[in-house]
Amino acid sequence: MKAIRSIDDIREKVRSLKKEGSTVAFVPTMGALHEGHLSLFRLAQEHADEVVASIYVNPEQFAPDEDFEEYPRELENDLAKCEEEGIAAVFAPTDDIMYSGKQYLSIEIDELNEYMDGGSRPGFFEGILLVVNKLFNIIKPDFAVFGQKDIQQFRILQQMVKEFNHDVELIMGPIKRANDGLALSSRNKYLDDEQRKLAPGLYRSLQYVGKQISDGAKNVQLLLDHQKNELEAKGFKIDYFNLFSFEDMIPIEDPEAGSKYILAGAVYLGETRLIDNIIIEK
Ligand code: AMP
Repeated sequence: MKAIRSIDDIREKVRSLKKEGSTVAFVPTMGALHEGHLSLFRLAQEHADEVVASIYVNPEQFAPDEDFEEYPRELENDLAKCEEEGIAAVFAPTDDIMYSGKQYLSIEIDELNEYMDGGSRPGFFEGILLVVNKLFNIIKPDFAVFGQKDIQQFRILQQMVKEFNHDVELIMGPIKRANDGLALSSRNKYLDDEQRKLAPGLYRSLQYVGKQISDGAKNVQLLLDHQKNELEAKGFKIDYFNLFSFEDMIPIEDPEAGSKYILAGAVYLGETRLIDNIIIEK
């Protein structure tokens, strides 16, 4: 299987799929594909006749002090996986193709990126919105599949589709985990043996707090603070570990029955940043 580099070529490919009467689901990725990505491909195949993937490490969503240069790039390996999964086409553009010439425009986000990853990574979601907006205009898929792992991304993209009138249905895939509960991530490759053993502790803490909240625990802040201390004592550095409203993704202290929440954490083990979340329906 070969990657399609040019915008004209991928457009032509998608056009020919649609001409044959196929519906198309799109799964954007940054590559270094793992079982989490593959689970999204399979979910996409349940919704559409053909699946198109993209593999592109988008420079616009990395801050200068982040791991853009080190981010794992394994195109040949990834293409073999895509072929095995029956992916119809893989769009893997270069930076010159995606951002050709001087760029005059950008997208701004209000409020939805104030907390969680948006609060910790200025410019991150603006970069994602820009690239996904471009990718949607290039691929013009009927469906697009994204992971719950990046739940704030999903919520902001939902809003983009609604406000910018993209003609695409978004689908959220559940988080694929290793046997010990660690959410699969291309960045797990950075963990050394000791860090890898510690890493599932984040999910265990989320599960523990999530159960207490679902069972009606009163003092959520105390619970969160206690878990944060436990995680820190184990060697995690906490970026955030908090309960957020599902719609607006703002911190919540007193969850109400009948509402939906995101319990989410971002932690560092050494230099490696891990994120995870669970959805709580009270
Ligand atoms: P990335 O390559 O990290 O940009 O991720 C591409 C897509 O895969 C995004 O929609 C992610 O939310 C999703 N994804 C990443 N990790 C997982 C996972 N462990 N399970 C399911 N989906 C995932």
